[in-house]
Amino acid sequence: MTYPLEATKERCGQECGGWCCKNKLIVLMTKDEATRLKKLNHKAMITQGMNTEKWAMAIIPQCIFLTDENLCGIHEQRPDACRQWPYTASRGCLLWPKEVG
Ligand code: SF4
Ligand code: SF4
Repeated sequence: MTYPLEATKERCGQECGGWCCKNKLIVLMTKDEATRLKKLNHKAMITQGMNTEKWAMAIIPQCIFLTDENLCGIHEQRPDACRQWPYTASRGCLLWPKEVG
């Protein structure tokens, strides 16, 4: 089992340019997280999924909380899905061994 390197502002923000905060469709979260993020920015596009307890924030073309430096502007308050990312190796991601993906 291999584990990714730590997601740092140098790797994700500077080297990679915040790819994950720009090129995903949604971030899933709980109702409490949705309420918290809406309070931080009422323009965040967060809606409840149909027939589910999950809420989702659209991050098209990029997350509203991403800064000009490609860093998370709500790092201490980001939802769990962002804390646990990336779940799997993906091509080009700087956090995984080069030979993966
Ligand atoms: S909340 Fe932060 S880590 Fe999550 S997608 Fe937005 S900018 Fe990225
Ligand atoms: S692809 Fe990897 S290195 Fe780039 S922002 Fe996402 S997690 Fe960070």
